[in-house]
Amino acid sequence: MRRVRLYQTDAIVLRRHNLGEADRILTLYTPGHGKLRAIAKGVRRPNSRLAGHVELFSLTHFQLAVGRELDVVTQAETREPFRQVRAELERTSEAYYALDLVDRLTPERLENRGVYELLCALLRGLDAPRAPQLARSWFAVHVLGALGYRPQLTQCVACQAPIEPGANYFSHLSGGVLCPRCGPTEPSARPIPVDVLKVLRYLQRTTDLGHVRLVVAPALQGAVEAVLRAYIELLVERQLPTEAFLDRLRRDARLQPAAPADPVLAGGAR
Ligand SMILES: [Zn+2]
Repeated sequence: MRRVRLYQTDAIVLRRHNLGEADRILTLYTPGHGKLRAIAKGVRRPNSRLAGHVELFSLTHFQLAVGRELDVVTQAETREPFRQVRAELERTSEAYYALDLVDRLTPERLENRGVYELLCALLRGLDAPRAPQLARSWFAVHVLGALGYRPQLTQCVACQAPIEPGANYFSHLSGGVLCPRCGPTEPSARPIPVDVLKVLRYLQRTTDLGHVRLVVAPALQGAVEAVLRAYIELLVERQLPTEAFLDRLRRDARLQPAAPADPVLAGGAR
């Protein structure tokens, strides 16, 4: 007789995929196991005990059985449903951005409690009566830090000189700000406006989302998001090739069959 090993964990549901007639594959982010995928059998049947307890964005307590490939959800009970997050499109899109970011930047089964706590903090912040305008950028700045990619915003990444307000640069490749002297010598560096840098620094030093009270013009908000997005895209492509990136590599490989020593292909297609 096969013995079933069970374990319990809280988790945020990052993603759901339908499988077959009535099942779903859930991507969960847990405090003790990092990201993991599990199967919820029969969850799409109307009489399923699990239905309603495995919603996207919710904080749920799970009991899982260790499976050969995927673990299997045996029980699920919603702890915090974050109803407001699902009820309002703007909050939903902020939460979706954050969940997608975590899904793309984290490997499976690598514990990172900081990331889990940031997810909980973001969803609670977005569920509050007044959600902060800069929630997604706050989340991105801090989750990058929790994953070891903290953007360097106060010292030049090249010469370590303190960054003063002025004609500074940001380099996604170097992971931070360059001073007016070093910036022009780094090909990947782009000018960063003083206001954008100020907002990023404010977000980085405000560790509690509830204390983020800054309200900025939409153009400045967009510029801050663009700097973070470009940095994150670079990390995703470098560390964790996504399907789209792998497709591009495969396409490039087909177009250039005589380039076996291409370092990008060698690194990206592992
Ligand atoms: Zn410098």
